[in-house]
Amino acid sequence: MTLRPSQGLSYRRGRMAPVPTGSGYRRQLYRDDAVVLRVQKLGESDRIITLLTRRHGRLRAVARGVRRTTSRFGARLEPFGHIDLQLAGSPEGVGSSLHSVSQVEAVALYGKQFLSDYPRYTAASAIAETAERLTPVEREPSLRLFQLTLGALKALAAAEHAGGLVLDAYLLRAMATAGWAPAIAECAVCGTQGRHAAFSVPAGGAVCPDCRPPGAAHPAPATLVLMSALTDGDWPVADASEPPVRRECSGLVAAHLQWHMERALRSLPLVDRRESS
Ligand SMILES: [Zn+2]
Repeated sequence: MTLRPSQGLSYRRGRMAPVPTGSGYRRQLYRDDAVVLRVQKLGESDRIITLLTRRHGRLRAVARGVRRTTSRFGARLEPFGHIDLQLAGSPEGVGSSLHSVSQVEAVALYGKQFLSDYPRYTAASAIAETAERLTPVEREPSLRLFQLTLGALKALAAAEHAGGLVLDAYLLRAMATAGWAPAIAECAVCGTQGRHAAFSVPAGGAVCPDCRPPGAAHPAPATLVLMSALTDGDWPVADASEPPVRRECSGLVAAHLQWHMERALRSLPLVDRRESS
């Protein structure tokens, strides 16, 4: 539905405003800005849009009629775009849990810039997928993750740094929001400060000789320097890194993310039980 001024409704950015409907419960309209993470077809002409919003966390919303050629805002609801939108939804616990998009304005449609650049497109896809997986519960606001996701897509579009570096910097910082940042400047087990030579994903990152578990990796010292630079946003150091160092760093970051993601997924049923009780 589209809100008409004649309805005399007012809303403020980010605030809920009750709207009477004919179906017996009150719909609410609210504004937010968001990154489009994913778009799925729904029926003949609709889409389900997965959004990471600034104030309302991750949510899925239905966009009606956007696949028709006459749609005013279909093009604004493509993956990786930063949009300002108005959503309509029912209050918690009443009616459909799927909100609907009633208005959309484009802030910056980064997706267009990745279409002709496959490496950047895959990096953007990995960023969007990670953002979705790091927000397993809908409507749980995470301002820091929103800012990181938006910043990473903006940096990818600006093309000032290699796409792989932007992705790894994002993954490292996004893991930090989940409490999974790998230890780099201290031992992950005993906390002894310093640059340690071994790296163990199950132990939580760099490990000192006393704590090093069997099977720990021994990355090149430059690899941990790069990991540290990406975490801190030290781009001159990151940009100067050599391809083999970038590859090794990417491998460790991906392994670290994968390991924690799988553990987090196993703990998810607990979250679901808590929510439904
Ligand atoms: Zn130690």
